[in-house]
This record gives sequence, C-alpha cells and structure tokens, in this order.
Amino acid sequence: MLEINGLSAHYRSVRALRDVSLNVNKGEIVTLIGANGAGKSTLMNSIFGVPRASSGSIVFEGADITRLPSHVVGKLDIAVVPEGRRIFQRMTVLENLLMGRTPEKRSISDDLERMYEMFPILLTRSTQRAGTLSGGEQQMLAIARALMSHPRLLLLDEPSLGLAPIFIRKIFSVVKELNERFGMTILLVEQNAHHALRVAHRGYVLQHGEIALEGSGPDLLANPAVRAAYLEGDTAQLDAA
Ligand code: ATP
Repeated sequence: MLEINGLSAHYRSVRALRDVSLNVNKGEIVTLIGANGAGKSTLMNSIFGVPRASSGSIVFEGADITRLPSHVVGKLDIAVVPEGRRIFQRMTVLENLLMGRTPEKRSISDDLERMYEMFPILLTRSTQRAGTLSGGEQQMLAIARALMSHPRLLLLDEPSLGLAPIFIRKIFSVVKELNERFGMTILLVEQNAHHALRVAHRGYVLQHGEIALEGSGPDLLANPAVRAAYLEGDTAQLDAA
C-alpha cells in the first residue's frame, strides 16, 4: 500500500533522512521506532511533501506521490494523527469529530455512531471543549477525528507521547483493534518500542536518519541490540549490530 524507496530528505544543509526504504502492506501494522531526533517525524511528514524528498520515491497504492503538492496528498485516503495531537482545543469534541469528515462520504450519524462505539468516552464528553479532556482522551479524539475521513492508511506519530500508563495501554489496544476488527492499515511511529513492537506485525529501527534494522515485531522485540538500545535505554549498542 505504501512503498518508500531510497528516500533522503534535508532541512537546508542538515540531512534528516538517508536512503530510507520501507513498505507497509495492506492490513499490516508497521512500526517505525527510534530515539529523539532519529528522523521519524520527518519521514511521516515527507509523505506530505514537507520536507520534500531530495531523492528516492514515495508510492501510495501504486501511484508515485513523491512530487505531489501537500494539499493533493491530503486528499488521498491517508489520515495522519500528528505528534502532539493538534486537536482544536476550544471546539467541542463533537465539532472536532465533524472537522475530520470528508463531506461526500457516508452519513454523519453513521460516522459518529461508529466513533462513539469505538470510543464511548467521546460520546460522554461530546459537548465538552476538547481542551478540557485529559491527554489520553485527547489522543483518542485525535485518532477518532482522523478515522472520520474513512482512510485506507492511518499514520500515527507518537500516539503514546506524554500519556499516563493506563492511557498508553488503551491507545495501543485501540491500534490493535482498529487493525484486527476493521482491517485498518497502520504506520505507527513510536519511541515506546516495547508497546509498539508488541502490536506491530513488522518494524523498522531508524537511527540517525537511516534504517538500522528491520524485522517482525516479535523478532525485533527479542533482538538483543534493540533491547539494549530501546528497551533498556542505551542507543550506542545498535551501532554494533
Ligand atoms: P522526536 O521523537 O523528537 O520527534 P524524530 O525521530 O521525529 O524525533 P525528527 O523530528 O524527524 O526526529 O528530526 C530529525 C532531525 O531533523 C533532527 O536532527 C532534527 O533536529 C532535525 N529537524 C527536524 N525538524 C527540523 C526543521 N524544521 N528544521 C531543521 N531541522 C529539523
């Protein structure tokens, strides 16, 4: 569904990605893990052309989207939940959900019913301003808003960032449920390697803008270099892998 081939990207003279190749097949959860500054968000954003690829290609459902303007990529069946959630704090939960809709698709009531079934807390809070929700509830709202457009590919950028453990577990169980129950294809960018690799079918480790390792979720979880670097907090070990 998504194929990234030999992608490099720069911010002026700073190279943030170098020759990155990864793919996400239909029905998969693929995770991209890496430390702060490894280039995870850059990879996610470069799908939308910011920054633009300096070399390599990005192909979505067979079409080369590498050079498309951002607003055109924004109209494809790709939804993104950005790092930091970026919900509309002063709008209600319901208004936030409605902002995520693509008007020509399906009925409003069906869309809302689907989201409230998946995230009952959003129904309870529907008339409340989004800024008054807890961090975990805001993350659920951000995911639900993205799903309102009926995407075929969901990009999640560090959904567990800054959340209490109980919400971290909830967010990852939502990711798993979306995939298992609705067949959603998901690219999950995470620093929380432990949780991400447990829900993902496959994963890639990004280090200093390059793919250092790739494998199945269970294999990466068991990999001593990954364990040392991301599960026990020492990134130096991967250099030796
Ligand atoms: P984090 O987990 O902290 O979000 P990340 O893995 O998503 O990190 P990126 O945000 O993609 O990493 O950053 C990759 C590199 O590019 C870093 O060295 C960062 O300082 C640099 N960078 C990111 N955004 C910009 C920008 N707008 N201008 C210049 N350099 C940037």
